[in-house]
Amino acid sequence: MAYDYLIVGTGLFGSVFAHEAAKRGHTVKMLEKRTHIGGNCYTEKQAGIDVHKYGAHIFHTSSKKIWDYINQFTEFYPYIHAPIANYQGELYNLPFNMNTFYQLWGTKNPAEARIKISTQIEKTGIKRPRNLEEQALSLVGTDIYHKLIKGYTEKQWGRECDLLPSFIIKRLPIRYTFNNNYFTDIFQGIPKLGYTQMIQKMLTHPLIDISLETDFFADRTRHEASSKNIVYTGMIDQYFDYCYGELAYRSLHFETKVYDTDNYQGTAVMNFTDSQTPYTRIIEHKHFCPVVTKKTVITKEYPKEWKKGDIPYYPINDQSNNALYRKYEKLAQQQKKCLFGGRLANYRYYDMDDTIAAALKLVQYEFPAE
Ligand code: FAD
Ligand code: UDP
Repeated sequence: MAYDYLIVGTGLFGSVFAHEAAKRGHTVKMLEKRTHIGGNCYTEKQAGIDVHKYGAHIFHTSSKKIWDYINQFTEFYPYIHAPIANYQGELYNLPFNMNTFYQLWGTKNPAEARIKISTQIEKTGIKRPRNLEEQALSLVGTDIYHKLIKGYTEKQWGRECDLLPSFIIKRLPIRYTFNNNYFTDIFQGIPKLGYTQMIQKMLTHPLIDISLETDFFADRTRHEASSKNIVYTGMIDQYFDYCYGELAYRSLHFETKVYDTDNYQGTAVMNFTDSQTPYTRIIEHKHFCPVVTKKTVITKEYPKEWKKGDIPYYPINDQSNNALYRKYEKLAQQQKKCLFGGRLANYRYYDMDDTIAAALKLVQYEFPAE
């Protein structure tokens, strides 16, 4: 056995585990099927600007432990996420707050806004929400639902809101203050030199070898024989050769352009919440971590159905997929040599801080005494 650990995937999960294993003196081989490290966090310079190649990534956490951990690898620019919603040319602040309510109805204080929203909620008559549509209507009322949620969510997930699970929408806070900070976490920021540099720093260690453009499944038997242990961060259904059937994922298509203007939309993220515009967001990368340049880089994000060969960006955690995942999870628990983790192997909507927490938990399990 040439290595102590074979890690499939150089995303955040695999990279945290690799760093911790190497730090403890274990040899690590990493396989990555893409041309670069970093998984979906990967950033790349274009026209002098860090471009988030797989969608906007804002680091945010309420855990001091995770914040201290990630700060070993990067300094953060103190970015505060405050995206703008564009509904048929009307602009609104997100998340739903006093600015949004003023823009929608002209309400000027919390009492006026509460009356407006609770009147709309009451009219829906929904007592026990059974799906995302009912959940949203019973939380924010009809105007916000129709202008800021329905179109965006149906494009994002490719399904009608009344067929989607309500937990998706619980991620969106509603507040009666003039506060456009999208997140409620205590710590937030963007790595000053990009996510790729941050992950590169985790992986720069003499005990870590990395092979890019190498798919584990292209030569599975040889790879499996090359190490004592495996940490697998790819799709769990693929690992078990889809023996119980395929899990569903949502994919994305990105269109990136460089423009000869120093400022295209004045914000890092604009969400297009109507149903006609085919993309969900436009990202203007330079606003994540300001750079003075005459050019700008923008990316349009188009959601699409996932099919084999596409990147599986989002697990679809509805009841039937979660039940199918649990069958795979049982198989995973019976594997002696292989550990599973990350967004794809755990089939969970992990943010980056959740991913790091899960990786550190596995580290603790694997190296309890060290
Ligand atoms: P991944 O990044 O998917 O890494 C898995 C790696 O394994 C990939 O590089 C893949 O190529 C490789 N791999 C898979 N199969 C094989 C194989 N067979 N052989 C070799 N290599 C393989 N989180 C936040 O905290 N804030 C945000 O703002 C945020 N925005 C996001 C926006 C989008 C559009 C998406 C999709 C996610 C966002 N996230 C965000 C979540 C964040 O991307 C994840 O938490 C994190 O990337 C998960 O890391 P991972 O290692 O589990 O998975
Ligand atoms: N959402 C919405 N309108 C918006 C932004 C988000 O309805 O303008 C909904 C949508 O259902 C989305 C969910 O909120 O899937 C979570 O969005 P968020 O931007 O937090 O998640 P991400 O897609 O970045 O993981």
